[in-house]
Amino acid sequence: MRVLILGGTTEASDLARHLAGDPRFETTLSLAGHTGSPAAHPGVALRIGGFGGVAGLAGWLAEAGTAAVIDATHPFAAQISANADAAARETGVPLCTVVRPPWSAMPGDCWRSVTSMEAAAEALGAEPRRVFLSVGRQSLGTFRRAPHHAYVARSIEPPDAAALPPDTTLIQAKGPFARDDEIALLKSHRIDVVVAKNAGGSATYAKIEAARQLGLPVVMVARPVKAGRHVVADAEEALAWLQRLHAMSRSERGV
Ligand code: NAP
Repeated sequence: MRVLILGGTTEASDLARHLAGDPRFETTLSLAGHTGSPAAHPGVALRIGGFGGVAGLAGWLAEAGTAAVIDATHPFAAQISANADAAARETGVPLCTVVRPPWSAMPGDCWRSVTSMEAAAEALGAEPRRVFLSVGRQSLGTFRRAPHHAYVARSIEPPDAAALPPDTTLIQAKGPFARDDEIALLKSHRIDVVVAKNAGGSATYAKIEAARQLGLPVVMVARPVKAGRHVVADAEEALAWLQRLHAMSRSERGV
C-alpha cells in the first residue's frame, strides 16, 4: 500500500520510523523544504518542496497510486492541511490528520490568549518590555510593528535579519528543551514576557513551565483551524488507522 506522510513534525518522523521496516507499506515522507538538513529514514522515500497547491497534490497522489495520506504537519501549518483535505476529496484517497492536543493553562500560569501574531505584538503593550519570542522565524517580522520592545528570538533556522524588529537578539536552537535550561535562559536575558504559539506536545513545553516557575506572563497564540475529516491525536492512532485501512483493503480484494 502506497502511503504519503505530510511531515515536518516529530509525529511524522515517528510514523516514518515505524513504517520504514513494514513490508505492507511503501512510504513517502514529504517535507516543505524549510529545514536545512532533514533526517533520513532508510526505507522511506523523501520528497522535498511544495506540490503546487491542491491540483499539484491531487496530481501527485494519482500519479503515485497513493492509497492513503497521513497529514502529520504542524498544528499551525493550516494551508497544507486544507490542500490535503481538498486533494483527498478530489481523488478519493483516504486521509488521516494528526492534530496533537493543545496546551491548557494550569494553576500558576498567566496567559493572555490571542488569535493572531499581529494581536500578540499588540498585546505586548505600550511600555517597553524584554520579550522572549518563540514563534518560528517566519513570524518574527510581525513584531516590527512593536519596535519599542527588546526581543530575544529563538528559531531553528536563521531568520532574514532585515525583517527583524530593531532590538533583537537571535538564538538558533532546536528542541527538545529542558525546563531548567529555559529558566536559566529567561533569567539571563531578564525576560518580562514570553510569546509562544500553542504548539502542544512536549518538545517545546519547557518554556511554558519556566514562565510559570518565574511568574512571567505568556502571550499565547491560539491555533488556526486545521482541515481534516478523520482527526487523531498522535502517531500511534494514525498507525492504527492505517493498519485498519490496510486490513480493509485486503479483505475487499479477497486477499
Ligand atoms: P503551510 O503554511 O500550511 O503551507 C504552505 C505551503 O508549503 C503549502 O501550500 C505547500 O506548498 C508547502 N508545504 C507545507 N508543508 C509541506 C509538506 N509537508 N510537504 C510539501 N509541501 C509542504 O505550512 P507552514 O506553516 O509554512 O509549514 C511548513 C512545514 O513546516 C510543514 O511541513 C510543517 O509541518 C512544518 N512546521 C511548521 C511549523 C509552523 O509553526 N507553521 C512549525 C514546525 C514545523 P504547495 O501549495 O506548493 O504544495
